[in-house]
Amino acid sequence: MDYYGSSIGRLIESLSSLPGIGKKSAQRLAFHIAAMPEEQVKAIADSLVEARSNVHFCKHCCTLTDGDICPICQSSKRNHRQIMVVENSRDLAAYEKTGRYDGVYHVLHGAISPMTGVGPNDIKLKELLMRLQDEDGEASADEIIIATNSSVEGESTAMYIVKLVKTLELPIKVTRIATGVPVGGDIENIDEVTLERALKGRTEL
Ligand code: ZN
Repeated sequence: MDYYGSSIGRLIESLSSLPGIGKKSAQRLAFHIAAMPEEQVKAIADSLVEARSNVHFCKHCCTLTDGDICPICQSSKRNHRQIMVVENSRDLAAYEKTGRYDGVYHVLHGAISPMTGVGPNDIKLKELLMRLQDEDGEASADEIIIATNSSVEGESTAMYIVKLVKTLELPIKVTRIATGVPVGGDIENIDEVTLERALKGRTEL
């Protein structure tokens, strides 16, 4: 039964399609929005649409960015031969916050998960592979640091990447961030000191 009328009902439904927003939060937000000044609502709606249409995947590292190439990939201060592979742009932001990493990134936008039907082709692995080799077939990176989460999905993705890189037969070192990242822990929720330690203590695979 529709208690609220169809506009509010539709708003609740679309809000609850967002990650982390359950029916209750969606309801709370919907009523809040319905009581807000119209201009404010319009500003939020505009910023949503604008962000969606302006944001693309960086042509090099696949992170979300406004232009074709993200500021990190454009920077001459970064070591472009060291590539840290992370699951999403939030993890990239977490490592950037430590201020101790001067390489570049590769954002997978997910992890391999047979349980939920996410295969190697559903994440940005092809793009990673393509970055590792220049036109002459030479290695265009010295090291890949795998910083996927320490969940089952993150670990299987790490193993998959190791296998992929080995098939290239290029002199590229593959390392995995160290202990300190708790098992099952999401990188975006880990404090900066722990992340820095995990990075320093990485081991070769
Ligand atoms: Zn980039």
